[in-house]
Amino acid sequence: MAGNRGVVYRGPGNVAVESIDYPELILRPGPGVPAINENRPCPHGVILKVVATNICGSDQHMVRGRTTAPVGLVLGHEITGEIVEVGRDVEYRKVGDLVSVPFNVACGRCRNCVERRTDVCLNVNDHPGGAYGYVDMGGWRGGQAEYVMAPYADWNTLKYEDKDQAMEKMLDLTMITDIFPTGYHGCIEARVGSGSTVYLAGGGPVGLAAATSAFFLGAAAVIVGDPNKDRREHAHSIGCETVDPLAGALPDQLEEILGVPEVDAAVDCVGFEAKGHQDGTEQNAAVLNQAMEVTRAAGGIGIPGLYVTEDPGAKEEAARHGTVSLRFGIGWAKSLTFATGQTPTMQYNRRLREAILHDRVPIGRNVNATVIPLDDAPRGYQEFDAGAPKKFVLDPHGMLGTA
Ligand code: NAD
Ligand code: ZN
Ligand code: ZN
Repeated sequence: MAGNRGVVYRGPGNVAVESIDYPELILRPGPGVPAINENRPCPHGVILKVVATNICGSDQHMVRGRTTAPVGLVLGHEITGEIVEVGRDVEYRKVGDLVSVPFNVACGRCRNCVERRTDVCLNVNDHPGGAYGYVDMGGWRGGQAEYVMAPYADWNTLKYEDKDQAMEKMLDLTMITDIFPTGYHGCIEARVGSGSTVYLAGGGPVGLAAATSAFFLGAAAVIVGDPNKDRREHAHSIGCETVDPLAGALPDQLEEILGVPEVDAAVDCVGFEAKGHQDGTEQNAAVLNQAMEVTRAAGGIGIPGLYVTEDPGAKEEAARHGTVSLRFGIGWAKSLTFATGQTPTMQYNRRLREAILHDRVPIGRNVNATVIPLDDAPRGYQEFDAGAPKKFVLDPHGMLGTA
């Protein structure tokens, strides 16, 4: 049996690449595995040799000690891999297939899955929603590793028919496991369409994926707000207008660009660790309040940015339990709509794959996909945390050229 190595959470600010168990078609007890998933058989699963796996802002929330993630958790939910073993109940995948794995773990059988709401599958965790390598998401082992198991594989994997073509475009295609669908979903929920003006809070990978999606959906103007200058410069280089939302009143800054102090749609690509003050201190409702302030009456706000129920690292007691100080009256007065939660990746990954394969969207370039070896993951986490305008892609087997 082959060995396995993966990225393990070792406590706040600390990840390490370590030897971990080779995956089996069963979910063994371990850090973060709820009782109902202990020793859960997965004859419907496949074992993947990981071809590409990305570091995400969602991982950073855990690694910064801002969640209840247990030490020892194997990280990684953005997974593309080659099948090396199929379970007894897998019918339509075979050894050698190259597949993209939505970051959500979903059963394909419950009421929500039947309605394509794989963000809140009812059967893969002790509460709605599952994911790989994530706190409170069912304890499914993460894929920032050489090998990983994907359950319900007929349902959860999207196959690339032409492997050579897919490998050539892997720095784009690896983004359909999470951030491209997430940016796209944020725009869809905010009702971005032809001619829309859009404010995107956050110029990290999700913000840039949302910008790419907004352009793809026909937006007239896309304005990215981020206090990080390097990230603003990068967003500008892909065709966005940019603002520093903490440098002055946001409506005034938008008016200078658009001629009016509001936009049709806003997307929160920041989440609960939002900076709220010029000195960089946090205010967890900062982005939500700004989005309500600048979105036109009857407009929509998409909220892929993550909000937690418990935040052990919060300064204020209320925030420690996930309470957010919203000026919700603004939303009420303007009849705004809000949508939040995990992205139901499966609703979008196929069509975004096609858009990439037909050269319609340069997502890899737009998010500045940067390949590093698995062993360099701790450096990737560090640079990403420091705000580098990059999306790090780990290359566990040297198949992307870092060997
Ligand atoms: P990131 O940390 O790289 O980017 C966040 C950016 O927000 C940073 O550049 C930061 O400087 C900026 N920021 C901070 N305060 C701000 C403010 N007040 N206004 C504007 N920008 C501000 O993270 P990412 O990888 O781009 O992910 C963004 C968010 O999306 C995270 O919360 C992540 O967990 C979440 N996410 C959600 C889903 C989902 O399914 N809903 C999927 C992927 C990521
Ligand atoms: Zn992610
Ligand atoms: Zn389900």
